[in-house]
Amino acid sequence: MISETADDVVARIDALLPQTQCTRCGYAGCQPYAAAIASGEAQINQCPPGGSATILALAELLERPAQALNPIHGEQALPRVAWIDEARCIGCARCLAPCPVDAIVGAAKYLHTILVERCTGCELCLPPCPVDCIELREGPEPAANQPALNRARFDAHGARLLHRTGERQRQLDAKKAAASRRTTEP
Ligand code: SF4
Ligand code: SF4
Ligand code: SF4
Repeated sequence: MISETADDVVARIDALLPQTQCTRCGYAGCQPYAAAIASGEAQINQCPPGGSATILALAELLERPAQALNPIHGEQALPRVAWIDEARCIGCARCLAPCPVDAIVGAAKYLHTILVERCTGCELCLPPCPVDCIELREGPEPAANQPALNRARFDAHGARLLHRTGERQRQLDAKKAAASRRTTEP
């Protein structure tokens, strides 16, 4: 029998998590929390979005007793989605990058709006908004394949940010090279 690697175990745990990347578990996202569970650093009852269903699934996978959700990490809530008061939005675009699933549409100096079918209610867009015009409202029940969709959108979001950072660095390097040529030219 082929034994599982530590990465395999982390991947199997991660596959049971809701993939909202909300950080309420105390980790930077679902995958880091999965790694912490696998290493024994974290308990299986730290994910409020997943609630009791996720705890039971993790308990079964890891053959551990189920536990109640640890209230330190928050309470399991009804599905919610973000809503932007467009009359108050100043178009600063500060909410765009923090959204792990690219559920906000907008551009600098234009009002922003939420793609309800993408929003996981993770709340990560709330703190950066300087005018507090984002609030959470009741949302639809997530579909059965929602975690997989969330994960795919999160991966695409990360790849886009990485590409943008690389592009900025290339532009900076080109500017520095041009400036250096100018100072060394006779
Ligand atoms: S969905 Fe659960 S596991 Fe993922 S970041 Fe939020 S609390 Fe952590
Ligand atoms: S719009 Fe806000 S609440 Fe919804 S997924 Fe994006 S960051 Fe989370
Ligand atoms: S952070 Fe707030 S004010 Fe700025 S674009 Fe987003 S919703 Fe509008």
